[in-house]
Amino acid sequence: MKFCQYPHWLVKRFYNTREFNQVRLILRKFNLRTVCEEARCPNMSECFSKKRFTLLILGNKCTRNCRFCFVKKGKPILFYEEEVDNICQAVICLGIKHLVLTSVSRDDLPDKGAEHFARIIRRMKFLQPSVVVEALIPDFGSKEALIELVVKSGLDVLNHNIETVPRLYPQIRPDANYHTSLKVLKIAKKFGSLTKSGLILGLGEKKKEVKRVMNDLSKIGVDILTLGQYLRPGENSLEVKEYINPQTFSYYREIAEGIGFKYVLAGPFVRSSYLAEEIFTAIKDKFRSI
Ligand code: SF4
Repeated sequence: MKFCQYPHWLVKRFYNTREFNQVRLILRKFNLRTVCEEARCPNMSECFSKKRFTLLILGNKCTRNCRFCFVKKGKPILFYEEEVDNICQAVICLGIKHLVLTSVSRDDLPDKGAEHFARIIRRMKFLQPSVVVEALIPDFGSKEALIELVVKSGLDVLNHNIETVPRLYPQIRPDANYHTSLKVLKIAKKFGSLTKSGLILGLGEKKKEVKRVMNDLSKIGVDILTLGQYLRPGENSLEVKEYINPQTFSYYREIAEGIGFKYVLAGPFVRSSYLAEEIFTAIKDKFRSI
């Protein structure tokens, strides 16, 4: 199915503000990458204008081959200690209150990159304890010790995206496994983390399949759910099968809230790190009182 034009609800304003340019300058100065840029996120100008971004650590080449993602694939590189310090300095320099970290999948490393996440989080919390840190992690092969290491490093929110329905995994995430991803979230919950997961819709999933995934996530105690529209980031990426309208996103949100998620963000431009700071602020008191 080919689309020449986006539906009217997918028109996004461009924010060319002083903050947008400041964020870009500081990121370049400290040699940092964001998934916002690498994955061509449609919210980039809006998020940068609010001094929000999601840092991409452990290089910009992924060892997996997810067909919806625009991040480069191939043999990765490393730049460890320098990255830890550069991130902390950039965060302090920009006055960031809620830091979101993510990485490519590093299946080539014995610890899958978990220790590097933990090092950044420990250092950030040591230098600026008030900074909230959210980590959007790959599955780490669902190894309990690796997930524990990251959760216990001082992390505030553990995010791992389920991305799509089980039927579409072979086509969309051929190197991943639905049950492995569920296990990651279950383990993070066991170690007391606030947990978050998300799906990207419009890839051919059916409503009943989405509801099943929401039920599976709710059953293992996932706290926050994000639902957004897949937008084809490049020629070699999968085509969009359907543009989900805002009413359908509202329908999913109501169902998800009804089955017990503490916070649900659903809409065409929602991404797993979109409005992360607002979501955390909205639910932290509720979560801490449980
Ligand atoms: S929604 Fe997330 S990935 Fe997209 S620009 Fe904002 S922070 Fe970056």
